[in-house]
Amino acid sequence: MPIDNGIRAFAITEQIDETPTIRTVHLDGSMHAQPGQFVMVWVPGKDEFPMSVSYPGELFGITYKVAGEGTRHLSVMKPGEKIGVRGPYGKGYSIEGESILAVAGGTGMAALAPMVDLAVASGASVDVVLGARTQSELLFRTRCERSGAAVHITTDDGSDGSKGLATDKARELLEAGDHDMMYTCGPERMIVGLLELSGTTGVPMQASLERYMKCGIGICDSCAIDGKHVCVDGPVFSHEVLSKLSDLGRTRLNPSGGRIPIE
Ligand SMILES: Cc1cc2nc3c(=O)[nH]c(=O)nc-3n(C[C@H](O)[C@H](O)[C@H](O)COP(=O)(O)OP(=O)(O)OC[C@H]3O[C@@H](n4cnc5c(N)ncnc54)[C@H](O)[C@@H]3O)c2cc1C
Repeated sequence: MPIDNGIRAFAITEQIDETPTIRTVHLDGSMHAQPGQFVMVWVPGKDEFPMSVSYPGELFGITYKVAGEGTRHLSVMKPGEKIGVRGPYGKGYSIEGESILAVAGGTGMAALAPMVDLAVASGASVDVVLGARTQSELLFRTRCERSGAAVHITTDDGSDGSKGLATDKARELLEAGDHDMMYTCGPERMIVGLLELSGTTGVPMQASLERYMKCGIGICDSCAIDGKHVCVDGPVFSHEVLSKLSDLGRTRLNPSGGRIPIE
C-alpha cells in the first residue's frame, strides 16, 4: 500500500465511553485500514500521536486512554470540532489460520478488535482472551461476543472471569486446543510471556508493538527497536522477528531519544 503523507481534517461525530478510562471517538469520514494499522492523530495546537484504527471503514473511529496532553485535549472535544489524521500507516495483522487465539491486555483490544471481526467473518474459529485490571475496564467484550468469538475473561482483581494474568489463560487454551495462529496487543511484558508460549507450543504469533512515534513514516528514528522501525516495519511483527528483538520488554526510547526501561 503506498504511503499517504497527506493530513486530512475530520469532524468528531461522537465520543463514546467504553470503560471509565477508555473512549472511542468516531469521525465523519471513512478510513480503509487493515486490522492493526494505525493513524497519526493531530489535536490542533496540542500534540500528534499514533492510534490504532479500532473502527475501520465508514464508521471510522479510534479508541483511546488519556495518557498525556494530546489525549487529554481530545477527551474534552465536542461533536463538530475537528482533528487532523494522517494514514493509515504500517503493517497490520495478516489473517491466517482456521483456529485463532487473540490475546488482548487493556487498550490492546483497540488494535485487535478489527482483526477478530474479520477473522470470524472469514470463517475462522476465534478464542479471545480479554484481560484487564478489573471488570469495568474490559474493552469491547460485547463487540467480540456479538462477532461470534468465544471470549475468555481474566482480571487482576478477580472481579470477572479468572483471577490472574491473560498469559495464564492463554497457556491453558493453547495446551487444550488446536490453535494455528496467535495474535496479540497489550503490555510488552505480556507479549514477552506469549512469545515464550509461542516457542514452547509451536503456535506462531503476531504482536503489535508500541513505541514513541513522531513522524510515523520511517524518517525520524523515534520508534526504533533493534534496527526496526515500529512505524513502517510494524507495528505488527511475526514471532520470527520478535524473538530477535533484544530490547523487547526491556527498554524503549523516550521523546528525546534517551533509552528508558519498560515498566
Ligand atoms: C502503533 C501504535 C498504536 C497505538 N494505539 C493506541 C490506541 O489504540 N489507543 C491508545 O490509547 N493508545 C495507543 N497508542 C499509544 C498512544 O500513542 C500514546 O499513549 C500517545 O502518545 C498519547 O499521546 P499524548 O499526547 O496524550 O501523551 P504523550 O504526552 O505523548 O505521552 C504521555 C506518556 O506516554 C508515553 N508514551 C507516548 N507514546 C508512547 C508509546 N507509543 N508507547 C509507550 N509510551 C508512550 C510518553 O513517553 C509519556 O510518558 C498507540 C501507540 C502506537 C505506537
